[in-house]
Amino acid sequence: MKRALSLCLSLLLLLCGGLVCAADDEPHTHIFGEWYTVTEPTCIDEGEERRDCEGCDAFETRPIDPRHSFGEWYTFIEPSCTDEGEERRDCEGCDAFETRVVPALYHSFVIDPAVPATCTTAGKTQGEHCELCGAVKTKQVTLKPLGHAVLDENGNCRLCGEHIKDLCPYCHRDHSGELFGSLTAWLHRLFYSVRIFLLGT
Ligand SMILES: [Zn+2]
Ligand SMILES: [Zn+2]
Ligand SMILES: [Zn+2]
Ligand SMILES: [Zn+2]
Ligand SMILES: [Zn+2]
Repeated sequence: MKRALSLCLSLLLLLCGGLVCAADDEPHTHIFGEWYTVTEPTCIDEGEERRDCEGCDAFETRPIDPRHSFGEWYTFIEPSCTDEGEERRDCEGCDAFETRVVPALYHSFVIDPAVPATCTTAGKTQGEHCELCGAVKTKQVTLKPLGHAVLDENGNCRLCGEHIKDLCPYCHRDHSGELFGSLTAWLHRLFYSVRIFLLGT
């Protein structure tokens, strides 16, 4: 009998104890920590991230969208002065790539300086061209050699001072070595005299 009573008591105690414990262990509000990656996503497959409760064993998970792992951008098409270029970056895990536009450059025009013609050498007018693509904005026009000016009394050119007594006064060439040189020289001297007579130059 005594034994049965003590058994009952201990049973009661156990029940009580259980109740008290249950009251102690009432549901708490989970306090989740930071999300962390459990499985990295790949190009095709979802990954998974998880966060754990700081107070119990509960945790939450959520999927991470599949994503490509792109490398560095690199030039695929060089831009020119007039056309856009293109940059690409490739996925390290598959054949996927992304592109982006590189704006066209602008012409970078530089001056081509004028070269004055002299009595014997050709000159050029001032021009302008793009130093990147070579596009010409202002074309240089070639200027013919001026030809020696009328000689002074010493047979020197009035422009460059060169002594050209032996050259033809009409075309400023040396006819001595030419076929029919003397005839040409004679005719040119005649033309020259007539021109001087008529025009004074
Ligand atoms: Zn919890
Ligand atoms: Zn990929
Ligand atoms: Zn250009
Ligand atoms: Zn000259
Ligand atoms: Zn001549």
